[in-house]
Amino acid sequence: MINGIKCPLCGGEILERKKSFSCSNWKEEDGGCHFTIWKVNFGATFSEDDIIRLFQGETLRKVNVSKAGNEYLADWTLDPTPDGYGAKYTYVPNPEA
Ligand SMILES: [Zn+2]
Repeated sequence: MINGIKCPLCGGEILERKKSFSCSNWKEEDGGCHFTIWKVNFGATFSEDDIIRLFQGETLRKVNVSKAGNEYLADWTLDPTPDGYGAKYTYVPNPEA
């Protein structure tokens, strides 16, 4: 569990799992909360420190990798919606393009 942050959907603990950070209330009998941030999300990697910063409202600039293997910059923020990926990004235009 990560100290100092709570699930934005249900107030549960955020647990670190092998491939994700996710809500402790994921079981149906506990409410079936599906809040999850994948450790690798669109090719960008997220550490525990990153998760804490997202919860504090920070925007994290990361390098995403497309399915074709192309890298691009993205600004990530927390996405506390039930159907989201826990975090969402906006594309950062390449200043040299
Ligand atoms: Zn939750």
